[in-house]
Amino acid sequence: MKLKIVTPERIVVEEEVEAVYGKTIDGMIGILPKHVPVVTPLEIGVMSYVKNGQKLPLAVMGGLLSTDGKSVTVLSDAAELGTEIDAVRAQHAKERAEAELNKLQDHHDIALAQQALSRALVRLALVSNKR
Ligand code: ATP
Repeated sequence: MKLKIVTPERIVVEEEVEAVYGKTIDGMIGILPKHVPVVTPLEIGVMSYVKNGQKLPLAVMGGLLSTDGKSVTVLSDAAELGTEIDAVRAQHAKERAEAELNKLQDHHDIALAQQALSRALVRLALVSNKR
């Protein structure tokens, strides 16, 4: 099964894989070859794929997952493998978002800060292996 994870900036993963696991808005999804065709929104979270029996996690900042049972495509604003994550940058992003949440009043701004906080927490969870 082919897996392709793309962002507007780059192809993050393009691999032949055995399985894909993701966090959708309705809960976890596991995709093995011959899965029924599906398109589903993803949460900001950790997803993973299995290649040569090894499970590899990555942080995905929401987006869409689609499969036809032969290939899986993920289109997301941003995604990073654990080795690509700058933990110091994510820690700063977390602190910035927390500080903003303490002072913001506008609902839209609060929602944006909550999303920024979620992105930072997922990145930090992946680098510290707490998932
Ligand atoms: P920041 O405030 O640090 O930019 P952000 O959550 O606003 O964080 P995004 O908009 O999700 O950042 O991503 C912008 C680009 O930067 C994407 O290419 C993403 O992969 C990359 N990126 C963001 N944070 C990190 C990080 N901690 N380590 C590595 N790459 C990151």
